Amino acid sequence: MTYQTVNPYTNELIKTYPDATDEDLEDALATGHALYKRWRKEDGASERAGQLRRVADIFRQEKDALAANLTKDMGKLITEARAEVELCANIAQYFADKAEDLLKPTPLDNPAGKAYYVKQATGVLVMVEPWNFPYYQIMRVFAPNFILGNPMILKHASNVPASAIAFEDAVLRAGAPEGSLTNLFINYDQVDKAIADKRVAGVALTGSERGGASVAKSAGMHLKKSSMELGGNDAFIILDDADWNLLRKVAPGARLMNAGQVCCASKRFIVMADKYDDFVSMMVESFSKLVMGDPSNPETTMAPMCTTHARDGLQKQLNQAVAAGAKVAYGNKPVDSPGAFLMPTILTDITKDNPAYDQEMFGPVATIYKVNSEDEAIELANDSSYGLGGTVFSQDIEHADELARRIETGMTFINGGWVTMPELPFGGIKNSGYGRELYSLGFDTFANEHLIFDH
Ligand code: NAP
Repeated sequence: MTYQTVNPYTNELIKTYPDATDEDLEDALATGHALYKRWRKEDGASERAGQLRRVADIFRQEKDALAANLTKDMGKLITEARAEVELCANIAQYFADKAEDLLKPTPLDNPAGKAYYVKQATGVLVMVEPWNFPYYQIMRVFAPNFILGNPMILKHASNVPASAIAFEDAVLRAGAPEGSLTNLFINYDQVDKAIADKRVAGVALTGSERGGASVAKSAGMHLKKSSMELGGNDAFIILDDADWNLLRKVAPGARLMNAGQVCCASKRFIVMADKYDDFVSMMVESFSKLVMGDPSNPETTMAPMCTTHARDGLQKQLNQAVAAGAKVAYGNKPVDSPGAFLMPTILTDITKDNPAYDQEMFGPVATIYKVNSEDEAIELANDSSYGLGGTVFSQDIEHADELARRIETGMTFINGGWVTMPELPFGGIKNSGYGRELYSLGFDTFANEHLIFDH
């Protein structure tokens, strides 16, 4: 049994879950496909909007219980877990409120006849999701596709089964028909099998480059649509005229939220030479005040990582970085705990030949680089396999805006770290993947823009 909840704070096994069989998968495909056909015939989008509003209500009303699952499954600070549940309610509400508008036919001017296109469902989708935001990652795909009428099969990360079950349960309790979202504890082969099935129209994956490449290959082989939300190594560029009061408040959190396990967290801080020492000192001071401990205690400010396995992987990356010449400005010491703690760490002096230069460090590790000009800063920011997000910090907003456009990513933030909300599209370029989630762009990913032409 691969699906299990192990408390990251104590490393105790809480529960194991039985693997899904091929018959379970077949049942889910058949139920999903029958629902897709029913929805195509009934055009029940307004009914689904009502059900999605009830999903939002459940997330708001049961916030504490839902948040507790996240903390137990993957060790998220309880305060951050509650914020994730609220964000999910907002996403559900957004797509419910926008349903009518998003589904409205679009007239097409042309010299020959009456024409329009309408966005329609395409079939059952497979959703492969990671553990770092166990509800939010599902909601980004679920809310728009539920409105559209695409039933979904969920393969969640094997370390967050309780969160997967809780999400499915909320959807069904909101009155959504069986098959709207079916959680299955399937393995990689079964994911490939589902993608190959002709009742499946596409697959959305959020996760690592390795997982993404494997699932995208499978989708390509069967000519299925796919969207990939993968890793990042986001740059945070601090210009000479940055507002340091704001910077002090923002920079450490931009790296450390969710114990640093955020795809679009600021991972590389790029600072002008004359402010470099001050910035390193500021970050060291801030990291040294963190309190590692029980994530269910609201006083704790640094949670464990999701598993000891993930922690050991990151420790290995740190060891390699240091062996290749990186300097430790703070941290990188063992933590006396059975839990999955990694001491928050700051690395400097990373040269281009250091493996850490172009690696995602998915945990509480900040890297700081010194540059001599803005051009050098932009070049360093763009010298990455990834292209997810980034930040420019400057009081000259117009100039920051110009620099932001030169950064090769899907999202760039000015005078702040990453932010996500239903009104803003989310996604990257390069090895950070393709496709967008949230906003109306997220609605289009698995839609059929159906042209109707009247001669
Ligand atoms: P991962 O290993 O790729 O796992 C993500 C999901 O993919 C899990 O459900 C995993 O299942 C599944 N999976 C992995 N390989 C698969 C395969 N060959 N076939 C079918 N399913 C497969 O990713 P992770 O390392 O746990 O997650 C962290 C990564 O996700 C980081 O790189 C992070 O930056 C990225 N991420 C990106 C975004 C974004 O929106 N761009 C958001 C969050 C995280 P198992 O759990 O069973 O292995």
